[in-house]
Amino acid sequence: MKRRNFLKKATVSGLSIVAVNSLLSCDTVANPAKQSIVPIKTAIIPIVIATWRVSNATAKAWEVLQDNGSSLDAVEQGCRLEEADVSNQSVGKGGLPDRDGNVTLDACIMNKEGNYGAVTSVQNITHVVSLARKVMEETPHVILTGNGAEKFAYEQGFEKENLLTDNAKKAWEIWKETAQYKPIINIENHDTIGMLAIDKKGDIAGACTTSGLSYKMAGRVGDSAIIGSGLFIDNEVGGATATGMGEEVLKTVASFLIVELMRQGKSPQEACEAAVKRVVKGSGERYKDFQVGFIALNKAGETGSYCIHEWFNYQIATENKNKNYKSNYYNKA
Ligand code: ASP
Repeated sequence: MKRRNFLKKATVSGLSIVAVNSLLSCDTVANPAKQSIVPIKTAIIPIVIATWRVSNATAKAWEVLQDNGSSLDAVEQGCRLEEADVSNQSVGKGGLPDRDGNVTLDACIMNKEGNYGAVTSVQNITHVVSLARKVMEETPHVILTGNGAEKFAYEQGFEKENLLTDNAKKAWEIWKETAQYKPIINIENHDTIGMLAIDKKGDIAGACTTSGLSYKMAGRVGDSAIIGSGLFIDNEVGGATATGMGEEVLKTVASFLIVELMRQGKSPQEACEAAVKRVVKGSGERYKDFQVGFIALNKAGETGSYCIHEWFNYQIATENKNKNYKSNYYNKA
């Protein structure tokens, strides 16, 4: 999934709408007029939103919500669908591997009580979002990693699977030809399914699942499984989740930031924009080389979304507007 197509890919499901609205705008196209942010300002409950256009995943979650299922079940079921889709090279089975050729997955889940479970660097297990839920519900811990997480998965009856598909292996082999074993920072080749849902009872839950940065160093952990960074839920306020360069999201604890800003009265949209600005501010000029995007949902069912490319395009549009204004002014003078 090309990061520059971000805007057409985030999805929201609510009422009778199933994964049809483009929620998150994040295209790098030069024409800012093409940018579209469609935050939902009226309360829609139940609702599910996700990073990227993962229509099948949100439709699945929506089905659970319509059946009076919990938001926790909805986000888990939605994410599982994407984890099993081998055509998605940034989540679950079929994800691109690390630089040693091993597919390693990160995931987390958070419920209305503020409980959280996560797994990091897990090999051979497709449904890491469900494994994260098992950590939350069946252990006294909140994060399990690597071999320990995998061992726990087998104890819980998870199936051992080879996650490296032929396509992903081919892509890795091509990467190896020129990469000289260097982990690279880029804006492509990595994404996360972050999903937030409110059920008919009005309770919110969220989940995140990813294979992380492709060709990363072995053992690298991004934001997606880390509470407050890739995901945060507070049933009194709402939730937020992230996609993009995990290192930058981790440094700003951005999902927690967004929820706290909503607690202080900001709309989900305002909170997402503030978090993007915080990431940009902390990164100096580096923000041009990476992508970060957020979605948020408050308890009223209002949504927000924003990413760095939108911010960047907005700056360019404003600069151009000022330039035009100035040249018109000087022409008249
Ligand atoms: N946030 C993920 C990570 O850093 C990757 C992504 O969403 O693009 O692992």
